[in-house]
Amino acid sequence: MATSCDQLKKIQGHPCFGGNHHKNGRMHLAVAPRCNIKCGYCSRKHDCANESRPGVTSRLLTPDEAIVKVREVMASPVVGPIIKVIGIAGPGDPLANEETFETFRLVGEEFPHLIKCMSTNGLLLPESIDRLHDLGLHSLTVTLNALDPAVGSRIYGHILYHGTVYRGEEGARILIENQLEGIRRAVGLGMTVKVNTVLIPGINDGQVSDIGRTVKEFGAFVMNIMPLIPQAELAHVVPPTPKELDVVRRANEAVIGQFKHCRQCRADAVGLIGAELTVGESACALPPAP
Ligand code: SF4
Ligand code: SF4
Ligand code: SF4
Repeated sequence: MATSCDQLKKIQGHPCFGGNHHKNGRMHLAVAPRCNIKCGYCSRKHDCANESRPGVTSRLLTPDEAIVKVREVMASPVVGPIIKVIGIAGPGDPLANEETFETFRLVGEEFPHLIKCMSTNGLLLPESIDRLHDLGLHSLTVTLNALDPAVGSRIYGHILYHGTVYRGEEGARILIENQLEGIRRAVGLGMTVKVNTVLIPGINDGQVSDIGRTVKEFGAFVMNIMPLIPQAELAHVVPPTPKELDVVRRANEAVIGQFKHCRQCRADAVGLIGAELTVGESACALPPAP
């Protein structure tokens, strides 16, 4: 699907889609505690969501607390003017939490000019996409780490889908099918889609180029290949070096645009990417991205 003028204008304001991340900032609202899958690299002691970054557990917000926080931030003469995006990215999966929808509704009512963005594992995307569209979600990130269920089964411990736990290839297959169907439908509804792939050496490195090709065909706008942060069941895996990561990104940039500025932010980050500010306890203390 072609990128419309309106989409382009909005992308230009979105720091995670290549939209001038030195000037435009985002505010994450940590309203989504529950998750419906188990990624092998996820330690729920951490604030991990779908962006796979480290950090301490967030202070969870209710939707009512979240909108109060948005008001405070937007009223700040220092931070308010740079915030262009309101994102929900955890600490669990946004779609496993009804609070996500209520929060977007409240934000849309009061701050219609802010871009609404969400990051998900994609399991519930096909059944949620119309609701998200009705709420005015503009940009969507789906973390897609495998196309082959056999590879997926080495990454995902289980999924919990409509009340049933699925493990192994069966669970991975459902997840992957829903991720791809969700991406296809989101693009069809005019959303700008980013695909995050956690590069896990020895497990999914052989899948990355297929993922890039496939999601490009489905209409994804950009890909964000992120280095594994070894923890939980995948704590033993040696993460890619910055050089190895760079090689993989370069190998894929002819197929689909690569977003290289990701700092694997916390689910409650506020401000410019990599230069967190400033508001309350939302500072991001991560080292620079490789
Ligand atoms: Fe953790 Fe996010 Fe994976 Fe859920 S989807 S297990 S919160 S990394
Ligand atoms: Fe959106 Fe994800 Fe960036 Fe947050 S991290 S603003 S959810 S793309
Ligand atoms: Fe953007 Fe990456 Fe940070 Fe998300 S985690 S806000 S994609 S830089």
